[in-house]
Amino acid sequence: LQPRRGGPKNLPIAEVYIDDDETKAKAKPRLVILGGGWGGVALLKDLNPDDYNVTVISPANYFLFTPMLPSATVGTLELRSLVEPIRRILSRVNGHFIRAKAEDVEFSHKLVEVSQLDHKGKEVRFYVPYDKLVIAVGSATNPHGVKGLENAFFLKDINDARMIRNKVIQNLELACLPTTSDDERKRLLSFVVSGGGPTGVEFAAELYDLLNEDLTRHFPRLLRNEISVHIIQSRGHILNTYDETVSKYAEERFARDQVEVLTNSRVKEVLPDKIIFSQKQEDGSVITKELPIGFCLWSTGVSPTALSQKLAKKLGDSQTNRHALETDTHLRLNGAPLGDVYAIGDCSTVQNNVADSIVSFLRKLAWSRGIEPETLQLHFSDWRTVAQDVKKRFPQAVSHLKRLDKLFFEFDKDQSGTLDFGELRELLNQIDNKLTSLPATAQRAHQQGQYLAHKFNKMAKISDAMLANDIRDGDLDAAVYKAFEYRHLGSLAYIGNSAVFDLGEGWSMAGGLWAVYAWRSVYFAQSVSFRTRSLMAMDWMKRGLFGRDLVA
Ligand code: FAD
Ligand code: MG
Ligand code: MG
Ligand code: MG
Ligand code: MG
Repeated sequence: LQPRRGGPKNLPIAEVYIDDDETKAKAKPRLVILGGGWGGVALLKDLNPDDYNVTVISPANYFLFTPMLPSATVGTLELRSLVEPIRRILSRVNGHFIRAKAEDVEFSHKLVEVSQLDHKGKEVRFYVPYDKLVIAVGSATNPHGVKGLENAFFLKDINDARMIRNKVIQNLELACLPTTSDDERKRLLSFVVSGGGPTGVEFAAELYDLLNEDLTRHFPRLLRNEISVHIIQSRGHILNTYDETVSKYAEERFARDQVEVLTNSRVKEVLPDKIIFSQKQEDGSVITKELPIGFCLWSTGVSPTALSQKLAKKLGDSQTNRHALETDTHLRLNGAPLGDVYAIGDCSTVQNNVADSIVSFLRKLAWSRGIEPETLQLHFSDWRTVAQDVKKRFPQAVSHLKRLDKLFFEFDKDQSGTLDFGELRELLNQIDNKLTSLPATAQRAHQQGQYLAHKFNKMAKISDAMLANDIRDGDLDAAVYKAFEYRHLGSLAYIGNSAVFDLGEGWSMAGGLWAVYAWRSVYFAQSVSFRTRSLMAMDWMKRGLFGRDLVA
């Protein structure tokens, strides 16, 4: 049976993925999900099994438990323990899986253009039709325009972790050969991490653990002081989006462990055997430096995927953010037909109108004082309260809080010590421009996927009645369900057998290894099957008993 062709490019249309369950009176809407990562899987886990025809399109046929990826690179965990087959997850909702890449979306035809290589290695393209589309394609590595990244390693998926693991082991083995010179051995054992965010920091910590715990045992020829681990960070501190106490703790810990942290440093080029970077000195001058490298990890933040960039461009003026696809507070893609297309997770950002939220806060403040909002004069202490509220609701603002203090004085143009309404409005506009992005975390993607599942479940129940009531052109999303609100549950980083938590609102703490696993069990319970949890538990037990497997 040849598939029907159609759409703007006259490609085959993949209608085979639709269940036609004739016992059902109404046809189920076709829900297509792009991506089987944190966002997509959270949606699948909470979706009612019978309400939609579900199809997931992704080049990877597994869900990857990314928080544990740094451990997998050094053999603390087995790689296969971190993945779960998408088809397994899909079976609960009787969904379909297409292992392919989404290339484009034809919004007015409701078609996703998909590509894959066939058995001859030739690219094939086809369309997948949808009634509702969820874009959850995640993000790409940010090259920052640096030369020589082909000489660096990345840590995004399971293959990256495998390659890193092999490289680290290979370097250790080469370093042990009697024919390896002293200089060459030093280079082979120089591990450089570019990027002082959570991924880079955790990898450095895992590597350090490996070098300390297993090396003396299995590589007695290598001297501990020949090995070096360096972190190159462009900002003044590592973990700079975390609470200050957290980033201090991490730096002190690394200082004690002899992991070198190079701050205010920008990588210029990665060569096969060395890395060149510039470092800003305390007197403001900039010096160019270099380090020999046996291995370099590039983990300096994320940028949009090719698909996200293409769609943003296509939607023109309705997409103004260069870093992510913008949605409204109901997670609907701005500029696409209302209620057809949603975007969640790392690929997206919510226009959350911080300013609106502050205005309503101010209004309450004014009323509690028995005055009209327009006549409110805001003192600095009031502003601190407002800033606390902003920080709580928009935790990505945490690192900007100090700036929020400064802004008060900057916008108090007449230096009266208070802000009047006009001054406030200008200040709010500036904040709005600065604080519209949500953190690129599993936590956020998970919450957004869950949010959509609950909303879609409700829509499936309610939409017939609503349509009958003739509000067909109304805003169904807003009518059936609340807007998305992000709840910051804190962030965690693993630093050499201990964990630091940033719980927001100035709460932070550090704990031992138990804390790492206790915290992560929150993720486990939500997102990972019993199968995966058991595999990880066995890996940890094995490592405790026998050490890591250093084979490649
Ligand atoms: P992803 O989980 O990245 O999923 C994207 C999916 O889309 C993948 O299945 C991909 O194959 C697929 N895809 C890509 N392109 C296409 C396309 N064109 N068509 C179809 N499918 C496509 N977050 C935390 O909160 N805590 C942590 O401890 C933590 N640790 C991390 C450690 C590492 C090493 C990394 C890399 C990330 C970590 N993160 C952590 C971040 C977290 O993994 C991401 O924020 C999260 O994965 C985002 O979920 P997502 O669904 O948006 O994207
Ligand atoms: Mg996803
Ligand atoms: Mg993932
Ligand atoms: Mg992590
Ligand atoms: Mg990602």
